[in-house]
Amino acid sequence: MIYLDNNATTRVHVAVAEAMAPYLGEEYGNPSTGYPLGRRSKEAVDRARAQVADMIGALPGEIVFTSCGTESDNAAIASALAAQPGKRHLVTSSVEHSAIILFAKALAPDLEVTELPVPANGRVDPDALSAAIRPDTALVTLMWANNETGICQPVLEAAAIAREAGVFFHTDAVNAAGKIPVSVAGGNIDMLSLSGHKFHAPKGVGALYLRRGVPYQPLLTGGGQEDGRRAGTEAVPQIVALGKACELARERLENGGDEKLAELRDLLEGRLFDAIEGIKRNGAAEYRLPNTAHLSIDNVPAGDLLILTGEKGLCISSGSACSTGKRDPSRIMKAMGHSDERALSSIRLSVSSMNTIEEIMIAADIIIAAVAKIRSLRPQTNGPVIVAQ
Ligand code: PLP
Repeated sequence: MIYLDNNATTRVHVAVAEAMAPYLGEEYGNPSTGYPLGRRSKEAVDRARAQVADMIGALPGEIVFTSCGTESDNAAIASALAAQPGKRHLVTSSVEHSAIILFAKALAPDLEVTELPVPANGRVDPDALSAAIRPDTALVTLMWANNETGICQPVLEAAAIAREAGVFFHTDAVNAAGKIPVSVAGGNIDMLSLSGHKFHAPKGVGALYLRRGVPYQPLLTGGGQEDGRRAGTEAVPQIVALGKACELARERLENGGDEKLAELRDLLEGRLFDAIEGIKRNGAAEYRLPNTAHLSIDNVPAGDLLILTGEKGLCISSGSACSTGKRDPSRIMKAMGHSDERALSSIRLSVSSMNTIEEIMIAADIIIAAVAKIRSLRPQTNGPVIVAQ
C-alpha cells in the first residue's frame, strides 16, 4: 500500500507510539489526584503542554488540550460569542472546514456570518476582510491552510487587520501545523486550533491556543481541568502523544522538513504533468502547503480514478463527497469559481515525511495508467463512465 492522503490523517510515528505507551499501561493515574501515580500523569501532561507551546511559539499556559480540531474550532467561536454578548457577527472565508462553517451556520439566526469569497487562486483578499468588519463583529476566523487544496491564507496580515479593528482573531491551523512553521509570534493571533492526527499523533486529541488575557468561555463545563478551560479528565496518553508529535514536527521543520515534503510533492506532480495531457493545478501554486497537490484531469472523473488507483493499493482522495450514491462537486472548488466538471475531476495527493521517492515513482505510474484506462473507456465524451468492477 502507498499512502498519499496525509491531509486526511497520518500514520502515528513510532516514537510517538513509544512515548504514549506507558500511559496506556502502568502509568494510568488521573492527573487530578495527589498521589505519585496521579502526579506523574500531571507531569506528563505539563511536559506535553510545553512541547505544543514550543512548536507554535506560545507559552505553556496558553495551550488547552481538546479532543480534536473540530472541538477547538467550535470552542473558539462559542467562546468569542459568549464573551461578547452584544456582538453577533462573524467574518470567515468561503473555503473553511465544516467545523467552522457548519458550527457558525447552526447558530443562525442569532449569528450573522459573512463568508469572504475567494478567486481561483484560493486566497481571500485582505481588503475585503477590512471592509467586512463591523462594530458588531465578534470574531474573524480564517484558516491557515485549506485541507483540500493546501492553499494558505494571508493569516498574519488578516490577524493584524483584525487587531487594528479591535476584533478577536482565530485561525484553524489544523492542516498547516506540523507541515509548515506555524507561529503565534507577533501577538495578533488570539486563538489557534490544531489536531494531532494530521501530523503523526493518534486521532482524538487536539489543542486550542488561547493568547494570554483573551477572555475565554469554555465549551464543556464540569470539572476544573485545564485551568477551568476544558472540563473532562485529561486523555493523558493522547496528550503525551500530541506533545511528542509537536516536538518531532518542530525538529523536522528546523531541519528543512517542509522543503523535503515539497521535493516529494514536486517529483510526483512533475511526473504526472509530463505524462498526462489536460492536467491542471487548482489554486495558486506559490501559496500551497509543501505536501499537497490538488489537480484536475480533463475527462477523468475523480470517482473512477479513485476506484482504479485504490485497487492498486494507492490511497489518494478526491475533492468530491459521495452522498446518496452520487458524487457532489467539492464546496471548496465551487467557492473558487470552478465548474462542476472540473470539481468532479479533481484529486488531492498529500505526502508526508514517511513517504519515499520509490513510493512516489510507483504512485505516479499507477495514476498515469489509471488515467489512460479511463480515457480509453470514454473517448471524446463527458458522459458518465463506469469502470468499477
Ligand atoms: N479543520 C481542518 C482544516 C481540517 O482539515 C480538519 C480535519 O480534516 C478539521 C478542522 C477537523 O479536525 P479533527 O478531525 O481533528 O476534528
